[in-house]
Amino acid sequence: MFDLVTKVHDETRQGESFAPFAQDPTAYKRRFYIESYGCQMNFSDSEIVASILQQDGFGATRNIEEADLILLNTCSIREKAEQTVRKRLTEFKKLKKQKPAMLVGMLGCMAERLKAKLLEEERLVDLVVGPDAYRTLPALIVEAVSGQKGVNVLLSRDETYADIAPVRLNSNGITAFVSIMRGCNNMCAFCVVPFTRGRERSRDAESIIKECQELVAAGYKEVTLLGQNVDSYYFVPEADGKAVTFASLLEQVAIISPQLRVRFSTSHPKDITDDVLHTMAKHHNICKYIHLPVQSGSTRILGLMNRNYSREWYMAKIDRIKEIMPGCAISSDIISGFCTETEEDHQDTLDIMKYAKYEMSYMFFYSERPGTLAQRRYEDDVPLVTKKRRLQEIVDLQGKLSHQSNKEDLGKTFEVLIEASSKKSDKQWMGRSSQNKVIVFEKGNATHNPGDYVQVKVIDCTQATLIGEIVNY
Ligand code: SAM
Ligand code: SF4
Repeated sequence: MFDLVTKVHDETRQGESFAPFAQDPTAYKRRFYIESYGCQMNFSDSEIVASILQQDGFGATRNIEEADLILLNTCSIREKAEQTVRKRLTEFKKLKKQKPAMLVGMLGCMAERLKAKLLEEERLVDLVVGPDAYRTLPALIVEAVSGQKGVNVLLSRDETYADIAPVRLNSNGITAFVSIMRGCNNMCAFCVVPFTRGRERSRDAESIIKECQELVAAGYKEVTLLGQNVDSYYFVPEADGKAVTFASLLEQVAIISPQLRVRFSTSHPKDITDDVLHTMAKHHNICKYIHLPVQSGSTRILGLMNRNYSREWYMAKIDRIKEIMPGCAISSDIISGFCTETEEDHQDTLDIMKYAKYEMSYMFFYSERPGTLAQRRYEDDVPLVTKKRRLQEIVDLQGKLSHQSNKEDLGKTFEVLIEASSKKSDKQWMGRSSQNKVIVFEKGNATHNPGDYVQVKVIDCTQATLIGEIVNY
């Protein structure tokens, strides 16, 4: 057993390695070291990989020097993500010279995209394993130990790793991620995910519920249901043939315990239904927060992106969310400088941000990816300086919107789940509201612990954080 994890789509977590459970009594003969890059799905996959390796007699280490196997779970979403991993690989050269028997493996989207070519380009690499082939890792390691390079990048139509209990690493013991589906069938023109993670498939609902129940039994207080497009979750159990939609899955997880907070990510604006919104409204413990990536505010650009909604349709969806759940927070992903984007299109993006009043956004400039629809169909014709300037305008506007939203919370009281001591002072707690806002507040004399719910009144704020005080009821 290892202890558990908080994972946020967070630049500061890129390349983070897993810590072994301090009290793990097993005397492992071999050790693996794993670093994860990219989205939450990759961090979640690394826990599945850790579980498979543990079964095979490998213990985790955070000390790269003592590792027999180094794994990089990689991301291909933007060019920079791949460059970061390539640079990291060069840092292993010296280590490999000193310890030639040590194996280096590339997992995840970059492995899938480049396949055996990675072995030619990166001599150091012994293993290349795609996201659907992790069960074959033990056999591939045997091959690699015998001197043959191990490659498996076969994508699957049904692999969901449903039966594998993820080894929770680096955990705070309070929040955990639960993968509910894999792959993606939406061919967004800019996106490499459908090529690196394959067709969409939903995980057996029963195994999801079981995993959440086990988390509750182990003291967890929050689960985030993960998928590239959670709203298209659809599973038909053989036993009764009754289809489970995302709304019904959400409800089944919510009723496990009123003490368990439920979050989910990511929603596609075209697929999130009224059913989901009503289910969220009905259950206090389903967090009032939706990540609803818009990508662009221009209907013309959205068409080129193949997003299957218009500006007006998206705005109506925002209205609907606020109508069913006043006070629900919304965040977004935004891309600047997609092919043919004009200043007018860019203004449309800034306008829609103001309309939606996003609490938070992940913001990127467009990075052409080989093999995507956009790369095959369109010219990447917006100059880099323009993409970057527009991105800066988007970032600046988001800063103002976040600050404004935080100011509107002044004087309000929120239920906060305490996650840990604040990074700045161990006299303060850090937690989150249902709306996913970080709140920092003095511990005072009260004896609270991480995992407790407390009522906190907001007394001050910055752009990124609310500052509060505990309210006694
Ligand atoms: N499935 C989710 C969705 O549809 O919103 C997230 C997919 S992706 C892992 C996360 C974000 O990366 C996307 O929402 C998009 O904003 C961004 N992204 C994807 N491809 C990109 C590209 N080629 N250039 C820049 N940003 C990109
Ligand atoms: Fe990529 Fe679109 Fe699928 Fe998200 S929904 S993973 S952006 S193709």
